[in-house]
Amino acid sequence: MIQEKQVLAVAKSLIKKNKINCDIKLLNYKKFKSLAKKSPLIFQVLKEGFTFRELNLPAVIYHKKTDHIFICKEILEKLLKKQPKNSQKKFIEAIVLHEIFHIKNRKNVSKFELNESINSEENVFNKFKKSYPKLFRLSSKIINSKK
Ligand SMILES: [Zn+2]
Repeated sequence: MIQEKQVLAVAKSLIKKNKINCDIKLLNYKKFKSLAKKSPLIFQVLKEGFTFRELNLPAVIYHKKTDHIFICKEILEKLLKKQPKNSQKKFIEAIVLHEIFHIKNRKNVSKFELNESINSEENVFNKFKKSYPKLFRLSSKIINSKK
């Protein structure tokens, strides 16, 4: 499995390249879950009967004064442990770019409202798919292989 500092290096270089101001951290499962549940979309999905574990959500964006991208160590490990190093790096790029799109869409995500966050998710999903088709295919494949 790719080292934590490599994960951060990949993420930081993308943040820099996209000229955004954002903090990035790797969190343990417990901390990550409690922050992720603050998202109205995730809250809703859990209310509908999914468990947090089966969502296989590797990263979330969190707004508090500045933007924060949080990546979950355990989930990342679960998703990537059998992947070659290069795919691991690409996958990290994919999840970070997804969250960067959310930041660029800021007006939609700063409101903690369900419909807004569904729209933002769809918007980011489509933009990401269109801008990075290869990363999109790779990351979808990795996530779906664990479902
Ligand atoms: Zn998203």
